[in-house]
Amino acid sequence: MEQASRTQGFYSPIESKSPDEVREEKLQKVLRLIDAAYAQSGEFKTRMDEARIKPADIGSFEDFSRIPALRKKDLIRLQSEPGRLGGLLACDFGKLRRIYQSPGPIFDPEGRSRDYWGWAEAFHAAGFRRGDLVQMTFSYHLTPAGLMLEEPLMELGCAVIPAGPGNTDVQIDLMTRLPVTGFVGMTSYLDVIATKAADAGYKLKEDFKLEVAFVAAERLPESLRQKVQDAFGMIIRQGYGTADVGCIAYECLELSGMHASSRGLVEICEPGSGVPLPAGEMGEVVFTPFTDAYPLIRFATGDLSIMDESPCACGRTSSRLKGILGRVDDTAKVKGQFIYPSQAAEVVCMFPCVKGWQLVVDNPGGKDSLEIRTCCEGNLDVDKFMVKFQDKLKLRPKVTVLPESEEIPADAPKLLDKRRFD
Ligand SMILES: [Zn+2]
Repeated sequence: MEQASRTQGFYSPIESKSPDEVREEKLQKVLRLIDAAYAQSGEFKTRMDEARIKPADIGSFEDFSRIPALRKKDLIRLQSEPGRLGGLLACDFGKLRRIYQSPGPIFDPEGRSRDYWGWAEAFHAAGFRRGDLVQMTFSYHLTPAGLMLEEPLMELGCAVIPAGPGNTDVQIDLMTRLPVTGFVGMTSYLDVIATKAADAGYKLKEDFKLEVAFVAAERLPESLRQKVQDAFGMIIRQGYGTADVGCIAYECLELSGMHASSRGLVEICEPGSGVPLPAGEMGEVVFTPFTDAYPLIRFATGDLSIMDESPCACGRTSSRLKGILGRVDDTAKVKGQFIYPSQAAEVVCMFPCVKGWQLVVDNPGGKDSLEIRTCCEGNLDVDKFMVKFQDKLKLRPKVTVLPESEEIPADAPKLLDKRRFD
């Protein structure tokens, strides 16, 4: 009975509205946000003025996409400039609820509005429901994870055990002596708990009452998800966001990618230019949260993904991100074309004889060249490899099979850019 209700309903009516209705609703929110941010955020006003754009010039998403993106790596420098966090903050410090600090170091201000970071719909989609008792294993101090992810649980009507990270024996003790149905943290840590508890003689499906987990902050291999889900007999779903903007996207129970959050605008853009790309093309995740206190308009995350606009069986109408497929810093533009190592990896997977590989970009004589170096066991069909590679990456590489005496270390960068521009 409890389990059935985990699969039903939406947190917010917007999740099942038609894409056109959602588009219109989001456009109105974007326009309001631009007016407010132009008046209150020195950073945004400067960015608009430098691009010679006035709020009145913006009436459509097309106009909106002309606003230059704000790069995550620029936040550190901007925040140290004069003004309220270099003008990024649109209210006085005392009007905030909290300020966190995340690696960078970057300050992450938290406004006072309800569900400020927007994770409630993500937790609902993951199957969390009123009445769950949830163990929170993210840290509660300085970095935002613990408190940021506790707020949606309060919104949904769950109770929280603020366990924080580590102390695995204590975590196990809490989970087995109290009816803990929910877990928030990293899947790899839940796996550690499972192993340690099993070693100590606990029966995971009987002594633990876990039914749902919301996980984040690390790459989640499907094999690990399956292993831990099976061990406890539970559901594990992940969310995607950053400490700057909160929730960007989240999985539903269908496991068909990550639904774009309804509390902001998700764009997939060409790295560098910030020009939006059509669905199906890989690009950088650019997010605009509809929050006034700290308006990070067109925030370029540095993460790569692909937008999928096909319908989802769960009934949510939002587009979905096809996972996080790499970092912008690991890409290079070669002959006007972006090279994504994750796409090269897909090609390599079709050729099991390739045991190691590396893309090498160079520009001898000022002309871009692309080479893929491979270590192989057995014979690589170079022509076939080249065709598959060209299909996927739209570029024809030089394929080099290294002699058996040479190898490419597993931790070597997948893309080596040796170009010099003088
Ligand atoms: Zn769905």
